[in-house]
Amino acid sequence: MMAQDKEEGAAMKKGNKLYEGKAKIIYATENPDLIIQYFKDDATAFNAAKKGTIAGKGVMNNKISTKIFEFLAAKGVPTHFEKNLSDREMLVKKVEIVPLEVIVRNRAAGSLSRLLGLKEGTALASTVLEFCYKRDDLGDPLINESHILALNLATAEEVETIRKYTLMVNELLSKFFANLGLELIDFKLEFGRCKGKIILADEISPDTCRLWEVGTGKKLDKDRFRHDLGDIEEAYQEVLNRVNK
Ligand code: ADP
Ligand code: UDP
Repeated sequence: MMAQDKEEGAAMKKGNKLYEGKAKIIYATENPDLIIQYFKDDATAFNAAKKGTIAGKGVMNNKISTKIFEFLAAKGVPTHFEKNLSDREMLVKKVEIVPLEVIVRNRAAGSLSRLLGLKEGTALASTVLEFCYKRDDLGDPLINESHILALNLATAEEVETIRKYTLMVNELLSKFFANLGLELIDFKLEFGRCKGKIILADEISPDTCRLWEVGTGKKLDKDRFRHDLGDIEEAYQEVLNRVNK
């Protein structure tokens, strides 16, 4: 018990900055298997062509992401989440990120609307699952499984596991948000390798999901920032309030 407490205490000590991304900073800890995700208020859109800040976003996304990862873990989805350390800090298992953005769509919006000429909100006859190559310098291009295998981004078995977990997350989160009066339109997941296994990593928040209020269709996500719709902070706070219910 004592040893465990000590180990946890040590793991919480923030070490060197390992990486600074667009929305988060990653810090080492004294435990090589664990890192700290620090959530910033910085926001980017359109492959970082648009930059800004959303006051309090880091705190809200850390809290929302924590609730969602706790919910998914309880439902049997393996995740990197360990615990919440502070308003902006989350302790997670260090993974080797699979360089894919895995996108699920329940309705057309954003880049799918543009790609296929579909009016935003068009219902889809079945769920769409897309892979984008996580390469900022290329603008995160849409790729398929043969590209993933050809470039050795992941093995066929890993792709199958990622697909399985992604569809499971969609089922679980669509219901989770529906119970809060929100429709999950689309979202992005990232996975990583940890001790030979694929686990869910990164964050799940209004930065990475499109969430529309049931009844009004009001957008409660980063589209308010992307398209200057106003009430951005209020939208994130509204999602947090509902998730906290
Ligand atoms: P970006 O790199 O796209 O600008 P962020 O600002 O969100 O994104 O930075 C967080 C970075 O940390 C991302 O590159 C993400 O892939 C990576 N990451 C997320 N979870 C983990 C983890 N458990 N272990 C290692 N890296 C992670
Ligand atoms: N998304 C994300 N990060 C990215 C790209 C997309 O979190 O780098 C999320 C986005 O918030 C939305 C979903 O993935 O919930 C689908 O995004 P889309 O491809 O429509 O992106 P857009 O071109 O509109 O930014």
